[in-house]
Amino acid sequence: MPFGMIKDFAETGVMPNTAELISQGIFKKMYSSIPEVSSVAWSSMITGENPGRHGIFGFMDLFPDSYKMRFPNFNDLKAPPFWDAWEGKSVIINVPATYPVRKMKGVLISGFVSIDLEKSVHPKSLIGPLKDLDYRLDVDAQKAHTAMDVFLEDLDKTLDARIQAYRYLWETQDWQTFMLVFTATDRLMHFLWDAYEDKDHKYHNLFLEHFRKIDEAVGEISTRIADDDLLIMHSDHGFERLEKDVYISYLLRQEGFLQFKQGEDIVLNNICYGTKAFVLDPGRIYINLKGKYPCGTVEPGEAKGLLCQLENIFASLEVNGKKVIRDIYRKEQIYSGPYLEDAPDLVLVGAQGFNLKANVKAERLTDKPIFTGKHTQDSAFLIVRGLSDEGIVPDMPAVSDVKGIVEKIKGRT
Ligand SMILES: [Zn+2]
Repeated sequence: MPFGMIKDFAETGVMPNTAELISQGIFKKMYSSIPEVSSVAWSSMITGENPGRHGIFGFMDLFPDSYKMRFPNFNDLKAPPFWDAWEGKSVIINVPATYPVRKMKGVLISGFVSIDLEKSVHPKSLIGPLKDLDYRLDVDAQKAHTAMDVFLEDLDKTLDARIQAYRYLWETQDWQTFMLVFTATDRLMHFLWDAYEDKDHKYHNLFLEHFRKIDEAVGEISTRIADDDLLIMHSDHGFERLEKDVYISYLLRQEGFLQFKQGEDIVLNNICYGTKAFVLDPGRIYINLKGKYPCGTVEPGEAKGLLCQLENIFASLEVNGKKVIRDIYRKEQIYSGPYLEDAPDLVLVGAQGFNLKANVKAERLTDKPIFTGKHTQDSAFLIVRGLSDEGIVPDMPAVSDVKGIVEKIKGRT
């Protein structure tokens, strides 16, 4: 949920309990991770580290020494989540990128992308009670493409079940830290950002209703704890209206940096010699280095010049007279740590309205998108209640700062 939307909902009465929290604590805009995708942002949130230390750079990654795609999961997270580092037991519900579950002190129900309930719940003894509550790991987003009403009903049931699960675990478990994540908001904003902006939209009220329901849960939680208990509410990235999908692979192909084997399927695995750079979602650029990739052709000495060339192309990319790329980062600027080698060489962040995608099969640079909303890197939000010293929270915090903020507060009280 973006800073602007929660501010809007707090001010217009859609989220009165959240408005109360804001008035009692601090409320700030927060940076997401780079790139601003959920698996990277939540991995940074729960470990307090950057991707160079926790090893999660995107929703997808490549097997070593290949162009074969894989989905990194919780087993790939190289830094410990806070619940392993802190004393006491935790209940953690629906944090993305925590599948399959690992043993921990307390309860963990993994979030997006969780496939099998049996591998999503620790301890296993809770699988039965969660099934009784009709717990759902995630909404079925496919439904939104075919029948929006059915999708919205599923969305609502998933939220209800999540709230039931939190109540059950709150009351039956022994814990010191409790974390509950709502993820259907993300699906809702991808599909129906237009319903938020347009008050006459068929689904405008249903859109608001989802946030009213979450706000009721927020109100309930805030009265269940003492005033001096620490309560944090935040998002992992912001959102805004999506104007255009932009296919970075197409650009690289047009400019001659990316080539595929003749007569073969256009998939990353069929990259051929001659390729100098390729891209993974959303805008992660990799130099096709000799020795690092099977068809690597770029000598280490050439890489710097190539990076400058690519930066110039991305910086000057325009669609309808508007700049497409807001920021271009070299890996050393944003990442540090033992896994820096695995990082993309450049990371692009799209300008307002532009959604960057790899999409090697794209036949044109831009397309009219299916979604109406897209993630933003610089407009997540953070609310903290129970702070005695506001100086603990930086002016513009990042998701990777949250763990440290809590630790500082715990250290002082
Ligand atoms: Zn999303």
